[in-house]
Amino acid sequence: MDSTTMVLALALGNLALCATLFFFEQSVHRRPALPTWSWSRLYQAAGWLLLAIGAAGVVPEGLALPVAYAFVFVGVAWESGAAWERAGRLRWRRITLPALGLALAGFLLCWLIDPIGLRALAASLILSAFYLSLAAALARGWVQASLLQRFLALATTLLAIVVGARGALVLLAPAGWGWMTNDMLRQFHSAALYLLALVGGFGWLLLGREREQAELARMEIVDPLTDVPNRRGFFQALAPWMALARRPGQPTALVVFDLDQFKRINDGYGHPAGDVVIAHLTGTCKRQLRDSDLLGRLVGVEFAILLPRTNLDDAAMVAERMRAAIEGERVKTERAVIALTASFGVTTIRPDDSTVTLLARADEALRVAKKAGRNRVEVAASALEPAEE
Ligand code: GH3
Ligand code: MG
Repeated sequence: MDSTTMVLALALGNLALCATLFFFEQSVHRRPALPTWSWSRLYQAAGWLLLAIGAAGVVPEGLALPVAYAFVFVGVAWESGAAWERAGRLRWRRITLPALGLALAGFLLCWLIDPIGLRALAASLILSAFYLSLAAALARGWVQASLLQRFLALATTLLAIVVGARGALVLLAPAGWGWMTNDMLRQFHSAALYLLALVGGFGWLLLGREREQAELARMEIVDPLTDVPNRRGFFQALAPWMALARRPGQPTALVVFDLDQFKRINDGYGHPAGDVVIAHLTGTCKRQLRDSDLLGRLVGVEFAILLPRTNLDDAAMVAERMRAAIEGERVKTERAVIALTASFGVTTIRPDDSTVTLLARADEALRVAKKAGRNRVEVAASALEPAEE
């Protein structure tokens, strides 16, 4: 592909993306970093279009090219900014804007000193640097990153190196480098820029989709008010422990608890205050647990705790500690400071248990605790029977 066609393809490709993004933004909620990314595409489209116009001789080259390059630099800088924004660094402009200023000044200086070699070097190094910054943003959190994100980080790094290498080699070896002629290098450079536009475009959209899917999957198993597993999430986590309990070994305990007379809180202070209390007390409970314990919200104000490698006595102690912690807590809401208690049922998983029998036993203990006056811990009678310890 000759360079004029490539520049035109880049201009039209970016323009098409801008138009699609415009209508996309009208139809969905604004997503973080999307506006920055849309602007980056618009700047790049304008830059490549100006380059094409300059090369076609419509506008004097001396005027069109510096402005065109400036647009392309700003566009790529904004693209890397959008990646940083998505990675949670909202203040990317603090570093990018001064870097961009320096890059533009350096480029104009090179342009004035030497119209060809130095300018090619400056342009490719500046583009390469901003693309490397984009790759660094993608590589953030590498260990937890998806395969797609890692691929994008690596591909962007490699292509950015190819973009930068051209400028350096043009200056160091103007006649070419071994079998690599200058013209070949230019072709590689153009292809790398084209691929960066493609990889950047598809990558951005697919990463967005990947995140949305992960968020949807999370919403299915996490309770939004308390940020702990909901019933479905808790039962999913419970399944392997049920299987383990069929083998002899250390026992696993289950505690269920329910906040006492919670309807009164809702009736007296309103549902929003009730929500604040639920979220606050969930935090209190989490602080009482080990990392390996699992707290889940079963329904309404009833919660369950899975305590791996814990026998009945220890589980009762944990429940008692939590009961005391809830009783001692004072929750500040807009209208009042609210004190609350909770009742607990404790059991361990038996080899012959299903989730239904296990929950029924724990619930029965909880019911006894409620009947006996609330704010207390009851151990399920049948949990004291053989086999689990
Ligand atoms: P008991 O001591 O017998 O448990 O009395 P209770 O009033 O707590 O009765 P129960 O546990 O059956 O009712 C729980 C109430 O919690 C019912 C519902 O109005 C309220 N509730 C359930 N989920 C939420 C929620 O997400 N937010 C708020 N604010 N209230 C909730
Ligand atoms: Mg209750």
